[in-house]
Amino acid sequence: MKLPIGFYAQPGTSKRNKTGTWRTQKPVYLHKTCTGCKFCVIHCPDGCVSGDKKIYDVDLDYCKGCGICAQICPVDDIEMVSEVR
Ligand code: SF4
Ligand code: SF4
Repeated sequence: MKLPIGFYAQPGTSKRNKTGTWRTQKPVYLHKTCTGCKFCVIHCPDGCVSGDKKIYDVDLDYCKGCGICAQICPVDDIEMVSEVR
């Protein structure tokens, strides 16, 4: 596609693309051993983990199921489970 000179994308458009439909597995937050380190929040490439006070969760509208949060969690409080669609 040829873009016109001066073309620019509008800010905030990523919110319109619900990338969660790409997923084949999803993270499940167990809420048992969380220390509140926020590693999962910091390392999620989609910025879709939020929470506070050792209760974190994921916005499945945007989670791509990459599994980084589960791998980075030092206390194994996140499990990846398969999703059947
Ligand atoms: S699976 Fe990937 S995209 Fe989904 S919350 Fe974890 S780090 Fe973020
Ligand atoms: S990485 Fe694990 S321990 Fe740290 S905030 Fe996330 S769920 Fe809690």
